Amino acid sequence: MIKSLAVLGSTGSIGVQALEVARLHNLRIDALTAGSRIDILENQIREFAPPVVAVADEKAAEELRVKIADTSTKVLSGAEGVKECAACGSECVLNSIVGIAGLAPTVAAIEAGSDIALANKETLVAGGKFVMALAKEKGVSILPVDSEHSAIFQSLQGCADKKQIKRLILTASGGPFLGRKKEDLENVTVAQALNHPNWSMGAKITIDSATMMNKGLELIEAAWLFSMEAKDIDIVVHRQSIVHSLVEYTDNSVIAQLGVPDMRIPIQYALTYPDRFVSPVRQLDLTEFSTLTFEKPDYETFACINLCRKAFEKGGLYPAAVNAANEKANELFREGKIRFLDIARAVENALETAEQNDDYSLEDVFEIDRLIRTQTERLFA
Ligand code: NAD
Ligand code: MG
Repeated sequence: MIKSLAVLGSTGSIGVQALEVARLHNLRIDALTAGSRIDILENQIREFAPPVVAVADEKAAEELRVKIADTSTKVLSGAEGVKECAACGSECVLNSIVGIAGLAPTVAAIEAGSDIALANKETLVAGGKFVMALAKEKGVSILPVDSEHSAIFQSLQGCADKKQIKRLILTASGGPFLGRKKEDLENVTVAQALNHPNWSMGAKITIDSATMMNKGLELIEAAWLFSMEAKDIDIVVHRQSIVHSLVEYTDNSVIAQLGVPDMRIPIQYALTYPDRFVSPVRQLDLTEFSTLTFEKPDYETFACINLCRKAFEKGGLYPAAVNAANEKANELFREGKIRFLDIARAVENALETAEQNDDYSLEDVFEIDRLIRTQTERLFA
């Protein structure tokens, strides 16, 4: 098992759970970063005594410097500070920043030779080509934290030849609006969309689960992580979130990973791989569930899934474009400025307006991200 860890986005839903796992296994914490929540970060600094932390928000960083003046932790600030923490050279950098803000720190951590435990799916959706190539070049591992991808990764253990994989099957809970039709979703509120049946997560991903954009993003994430074509990745709605995802092999044998819905299992596996240790997670009692159900997604109502599939198939900057549109629209919806179905409209608009460019750079990814965000804002102005 690793001895030391840096956690980017340590004050978020995944970050806090990652530190719980780190506490349980006595991992040394080399760096922590946060967006703006310095109250939680201060407690984490006092407990884990990292040599360096970063706060993306400059003003919050300044406040934190005053609060922890009695400790020896150095406080960096801004996106540059977060990147510097990512590049601290820890054995493993767990990235649980939300959104495209996680991409540059992931690249910085790989450059510094750290293995990556990746929760920040937007990193791979927008920058998969660069992240996977750079990881290969630097000989670092990208270990999935996202529960579906961890399930696939676990179900792939012992597979000697990639040619033996026929299909990946991602499971989806269906979110709070499963079974509803488009016309039922016109006027849903932010509170209703934030009411996820199975998982307690950050606000952005919870809305992504309600639109099922999350599953589209995960399809792209899986395609990059496991170098699969989109056509060989299927999605099945599994309401109970017990089967976390499956791999179908050429002999039609299907291997899955099961467990109660608790992110501390995939987080811990990413940190202890290839070993397994006792975890704080409740044991799965299958007899508690009289039925486990599986059904086809309603692609008409939850249009974002196939918009993501199309974006990945088109390639180039399209995935970055749909990701940017979703991030902006997701934020506008949470601010009460647009309606729920406008999110899918924004994603569709990005897919239609982005331009084909197969020979793109990482800078182009950041550029299209900025461009599509502005365009999305204008769409609803
Ligand atoms: P969250 O909103 O709870 O936490 C996000 C973290 O990122 C916080 O620490 C926040 O301070 C930090 N942050 C926000 N904006 C930032 C910025 N501009 N620069 C630097 N740091 C910034 O989110 P979460 O639910 O923990 O999700 C984090 C990531 O993990 C997302 O990409 C999400 O899709 C993925 N993920 C989450 C879950 C889950 O159960 N929560 C499951 C699978 C994948
Ligand atoms: Mg997931």
